Amino acid sequence: MQISITKNQNPGKLPPSDKLGFGTIFSDHMFIMDYNDAEKWHNPRIIPYGNLSLNPAGSGIQYANTVFEGMKAYRWADGSIHLFRAIENAKRINISAERIGLPQIPNEIFLEAVRKVVDIDRNWVPSEKGTSLYIRPFIFATDPELALHGIHNAIFVIILSPSGSYFAEGIKPVKIMLETEDVRAVRGGTGYTKCGGNYAASNRAGDRALAKGYSQVLWLDGVHRKYIEEVGAMNVMFKINGTVVTPSLENGSILGGITRKSCIEVLKSWGMPVEERLLSVDELIGAAESGKLEEAFGTGTAAVISPIGELFYNDKKYTVNNFEIGETAQKLYDELTGIQWGTKPDKFGWTECV
Ligand SMILES: *Cc1c(COP(=O)(O)O)cnc(C)c1O
Repeated sequence: MQISITKNQNPGKLPPSDKLGFGTIFSDHMFIMDYNDAEKWHNPRIIPYGNLSLNPAGSGIQYANTVFEGMKAYRWADGSIHLFRAIENAKRINISAERIGLPQIPNEIFLEAVRKVVDIDRNWVPSEKGTSLYIRPFIFATDPELALHGIHNAIFVIILSPSGSYFAEGIKPVKIMLETEDVRAVRGGTGYTKCGGNYAASNRAGDRALAKGYSQVLWLDGVHRKYIEEVGAMNVMFKINGTVVTPSLENGSILGGITRKSCIEVLKSWGMPVEERLLSVDELIGAAESGKLEEAFGTGTAAVISPIGELFYNDKKYTVNNFEIGETAQKLYDELTGIQWGTKPDKFGWTECV
């Protein structure tokens, strides 16, 4: 692929690590490629980061015809820059695109675009412990008409945002509220994709949880309102009586996280029992009441592992593991971040140097 490059004539500067936060600062460049039915994907280019000019009737804006990915580049102690399981993100954006009717991108083109734009902005990969360059690839429809005639025009964009350490003061457990009213996904819907609409459907419950002092909601299935699904942008795992239990992906309403998949593979390599299955809220609360719920944690690219210290369900609070990070969560966090930052051997072959 021949990518044309227009350099930013006013390059910015990477702020100090403690000023980074998440998703508010962007690097000097972005990648863009256009699609239409006749030309297919064409005009790949890297240009200075900036506003896009869009037709306001565009179906990406009007109808949420948009899918995205979230991945990171990590700077190792020797200064080299590495991606983590990037092929999984390439595959997943296509699974999402297929569901929404957006054009898919050949994996190799996706990967080449990510590598190239990260390489051009490699100065934007922070180096302090726990920091990384968050990579946001996304595809959205640009058909300039309000009628619903399928998707024939789209763009693929990659933007880069240096991000701070998620847990600046060490890993801190979060409080999670079980949502009993709204649902985010149903069988046959779009729950298994990273499509924009899923997050729109989540806002109201998220706002209500925040107002009550809970950082995120834990979703129940959309049909029975009985089975545990996942947290806002994280999958969820529970250690019950020595076994790690996580909801299975069979129903199609849960996002198949790459961190989730990595945790399962690491746990199995340690010989720890892992079960992917239906987990009802009654079983979970029963385990919490009988003291068998040993740990609860979310898994996702942003935080890697996010321990859950409190669950709120039907007006009752359930404290998990004394509001402390559990042994398994800590071990998983150390192992995955060790591989990502190159301080532990990459036995699985998950990292690649950019
Ligand atoms: C992105 C996301 C996750 C986590 O996926 P990772 O690949 O581990 O980052 C989980 N649930 C939802 C709804 C998500 O959007």
